[in-house]
Amino acid sequence: MSFAGVRRVIRRQQGDEDSNAMAAGPTLRVELSALGDVPGSQVIHTFKAKTTYCLQTVQWACGYPIGWGKCYRSESSSQVLAILDRIWGDYPDLRPSFIAYDDACSLLRHIVTQDPTSPWLSTTKFIVDAWHYIGHHATDILCWLWCNPAPKDGSQPDLILIEEDANGTQHQTRAFNTETAEQFNSWLNGFESQMRQMSAANYDFFVHVLMMVYAERVEKKGG
Ligand SMILES: [Zn+2]
Repeated sequence: MSFAGVRRVIRRQQGDEDSNAMAAGPTLRVELSALGDVPGSQVIHTFKAKTTYCLQTVQWACGYPIGWGKCYRSESSSQVLAILDRIWGDYPDLRPSFIAYDDACSLLRHIVTQDPTSPWLSTTKFIVDAWHYIGHHATDILCWLWCNPAPKDGSQPDLILIEEDANGTQHQTRAFNTETAEQFNSWLNGFESQMRQMSAANYDFFVHVLMMVYAERVEKKGG
């Protein structure tokens, strides 16, 4: 079985900092030209710089990074799907059997709604993390039916391990955990303040380098 995880790691919120800095010092008043009958100061500007985004990383279950992408404004299923499509675009036959993602049920719902014939639906099971599942499975039938991280009915034997305790009683436990993603997450968080200051091009380059460095570390550990 192959298994990958997607994780949100770093939030970048430059907009907030900029507005704080403005409030601290003297402000420059700029006269804006009128738009038709509307005075310049009352024109509503609808464009916004896309400086708010979060980094999504994709890893194999052993911790080895596969790829990454950015979500603009806020994390959304369409953006996460675009990242997965880009990563596996040239390797459609190498899609993992399972993808664990904390919002996997929303992602699955998005895929089904957008394209009921999507190849992802036949290659890959989208499972949520156990934590999310506790809060969701009672109310969300799709989550309960398709995204259960450890179904006990024998339908997903790859997700379940049978362990025998000292008394010879058998117990079912989850065969995977998202610990490797947590480790990668906290390692990347150590670089967050540096990355906040970077231009988009430097940021992209820096993330690539971090992925390489982390991949080497996982390889050395024999992961
Ligand atoms: Zn859910």
